[in-house]
Amino acid sequence: MTIKIGVAGASGRMGRMLLEAIAASEYDVVLSAALVRPDSALCGVDTGTLLGGPSSGITFSQDAQAAISGVDILIDFTPPEAAVDNAQVCVSLRKPLVSGTTGFSADQARQFRDTAQTIALCQASNFSTGVNLAYRLLAQAAAILGAEADIEISEAHHRHKVDAPSGTAIAMGEVVAGALGRNLAEVAIYGREGHTGERPKETIGFSTVRAGDIVGDHTVTFAAVGERLEITHKASSRMAFARGAIRAAVWLINQQPGLYDMQDVLGLKES
Ligand code: NAD
Repeated sequence: MTIKIGVAGASGRMGRMLLEAIAASEYDVVLSAALVRPDSALCGVDTGTLLGGPSSGITFSQDAQAAISGVDILIDFTPPEAAVDNAQVCVSLRKPLVSGTTGFSADQARQFRDTAQTIALCQASNFSTGVNLAYRLLAQAAAILGAEADIEISEAHHRHKVDAPSGTAIAMGEVVAGALGRNLAEVAIYGREGHTGERPKETIGFSTVRAGDIVGDHTVTFAAVGERLEITHKASSRMAFARGAIRAAVWLINQQPGLYDMQDVLGLKES
């Protein structure tokens, strides 16, 4: 049965990529709604116009309730406030939700995840297969090297990104901290300046670059005395995230209500 997908944030960088990826997907999926900001000039415009291709028969809409009621599943890449609102609509309509939004406040994150009590929610700060495999490699590296190595996480993204460090960098920090029995909130250092003193052993440092059109680079360095291991992932196109989100939607449609992530979708969870 063809899966009818709605995209929220459809005119954004990820939204456009999703429209393209759905049209070209190897899965049996079809675009059935494209949600944009309430004040968007695109409301009523055919999505094909934005992509410079033929008419898709689907017009951009700002009416979340009406748009989501007609889809089988929603894929949402909007800013946090809109993502929380759209999730509430999914709950009221009992629609599963794939969410890529990052940068939630602690309150928003809690409110957002609560929706998984009612609907199937797949939330990931990074939908690429390579990054999700990297999480597994990081856990292994931390378990073996973590006691002797200093761990630093660096990331680089395009100039338009509004949150830092990236959700993926934080997720990598959580994986590493978890493997070492450390609490990331207690050991994370977000940037250094001035007379910082020597590096406390248990800390996990983060550094951020924002520049140009970098799609997303992440490196975790395990630096011991005499050797250094670096695990790096570089995304060269947002298509990696869009294809992953569609794969997640195809998987999620058959799941019970609950909170899932891309590790579940790819079968990478330790049993
Ligand atoms: P963007 O700013 O290009 O796009 C967001 C879009 O959402 C904008 O077009 C905006 O107008 C629209 N929007 C705002 N309010 C809305 C509403 N109420 N309804 C519908 N649309 C609304 O940003 P982006 O680069 O596409 O990233 C979006 C989010 O996805 C960010 O949080 C980013 O960090 C995250 N992201 C996640 C992944 C991943 O793999 N999980 C990958 C890339 C980006």
